[in-house]
Amino acid sequence: MLNVRFFGVRGSTPCSCESNQRYGGNTACVVVRGDTGDPIVLDLGTGLRFWGLEPQPEPFRATALVTHLHWDHVQGLPFFTPMHREGASMRIIGPRQHDRTLRDAFDEFLRPPYFPVSLDQLAGSFEFDEVGSDRFPIGEATVTSAWVPHVGPTVGYRIELDGRSIAYISDHQQPGCASTRVDDEVLRLCEGVDVLIHDAQYTEAEFLAKYDWGHCTVDYAVEVAAQARVGQLVLFHHDPSHDDTMVDAVTAQAAHLAGGRSVPVIAAYEGLELQLG
Ligand SMILES: [Zn+2]
Ligand SMILES: [Zn+2]
Repeated sequence: MLNVRFFGVRGSTPCSCESNQRYGGNTACVVVRGDTGDPIVLDLGTGLRFWGLEPQPEPFRATALVTHLHWDHVQGLPFFTPMHREGASMRIIGPRQHDRTLRDAFDEFLRPPYFPVSLDQLAGSFEFDEVGSDRFPIGEATVTSAWVPHVGPTVGYRIELDGRSIAYISDHQQPGCASTRVDDEVLRLCEGVDVLIHDAQYTEAEFLAKYDWGHCTVDYAVEVAAQARVGQLVLFHHDPSHDDTMVDAVTAQAAHLAGGRSVPVIAAYEGLELQLG
């Protein structure tokens, strides 16, 4: 059994407000668990704080698979209270940087004056591992990472566990407005997975204005899902300007497009839980 829970589904910046209540305003954070073993958390956006409010085993242990270091993917870490306790440990796996270690990159944003304490002053301990296009085990899971076109070093992940598989491509620059070409590495990550969690930031009109901001259209997310023959597409990384009505509308459009290609589509929302197996 593979359990997938969504704590933050928003891209770019937290945007809690009345018109976003159904989908939620927290940024990227998804928790994956198998029948046994420690949890795997996909990205450390502001949704992470809400996972931390739930009862956690003592001592807390988890592995984080971080796609890249933009704020919306790391900003929840300082507010994740399980890591404020002695004995807690987190292994953070993320993309190799061009000019510094992954630990140095975290040390740089998690210290005064940006936050009152530094990473090494938190009670829990952190371990860092850098990846690019790699394949490695986490407990019983097999994880594949690969470079994904975005802005700056960014990877996506595929997790295979308990006979099920998911792919997580949170931020993905599509090649051009009318292009249906999908990066080979991305296709390899997504090929045949049960669930694909994918960037769905823009409408076609928004993409025209922001074509090099590192993201893609909802239509392109459907294209990736169809080419990779996935079992289900979960639209993710909703634009902060998209209120609930807008997310409903783009999801309906995606479902219409995907229906012709036999891919079920849903939109991620805070509190969504998928049970695979
Ligand atoms: Zn993002
Ligand atoms: Zn990003």
